[in-house]
Amino acid sequence: MNLKSLILIAILILTTARISFSVQEKKSLPEVTLISIYDNYQVDTRLTTAWGFATIIKTPQELILFDTGGNSEILLSNMKKLGITPFSIKKVVISHIHGDHVGGLEGFLERNSNVTVFIPNSFPQSVKNMIVQKGAKFVEVSAPRKISDSIYTTGQLPGPPQEQSLIIDSKKGLVVITGCAHPGIVNIVKKAKKLMKKDKVYLVVGGFHHPPISCVKEFKELGVEKVAPSHCTGDLVREAFRKEYKENFIEYGVGKIVEIN
Ligand SMILES: [Zn+2]
Ligand SMILES: [Zn+2]
Repeated sequence: MNLKSLILIAILILTTARISFSVQEKKSLPEVTLISIYDNYQVDTRLTTAWGFATIIKTPQELILFDTGGNSEILLSNMKKLGITPFSIKKVVISHIHGDHVGGLEGFLERNSNVTVFIPNSFPQSVKNMIVQKGAKFVEVSAPRKISDSIYTTGQLPGPPQEQSLIIDSKKGLVVITGCAHPGIVNIVKKAKKLMKKDKVYLVVGGFHHPPISCVKEFKELGVEKVAPSHCTGDLVREAFRKEYKENFIEYGVGKIVEIN
């Protein structure tokens, strides 16, 4: 074999490897990634835990911040440790008025005001004024609506307090993300299915607000495939979900990254 053919073979091998690598790269790009950046449960020990909830929803198009926890310093420091800059976020969705979900908003807007904040329209004028004063825009949510490609809000559901949850229409099925689930976690899942006219619920993640243990059975009946209860779910219910769902129970808490392919 002469040198010319050897070089040719080498080029051929390298090109094939590159093609297969790029195909693999494309394949492994998740449709949606959920990143817990604030929770009272901990997964990544480098991060700070505190009572509250905040999760980033990363799509190939954009990053959405769902809730802001109770303290912006903790929120921003956890984001920094995970390599997420506040400027990469263009949309913020706040589930409900409680301090452990809205408390980090003001400090976040001080860092990045180039965002649209989706708030339940029952929010007090003081919060709306604060958002505008910081230089951001807000959208008042009452009815269900689209937030982004494949991402919807349930609209403001009765609590108290009134609360919105997010629904991702993923290839695997619906993904429901709740802040505190004051309108009732089972109600929210039922509402999501009805709104989207889809029966397959792939994942329910977030605070479930101390539901009765019987909700585990109701989840099974509703056909919920995976669960990731955190924040205000309550340890007993969380453990009941873990026992029932086994490998389909996701340990959700600050630092947890869930890829939905
Ligand atoms: Zn709450
Ligand atoms: Zn809460």
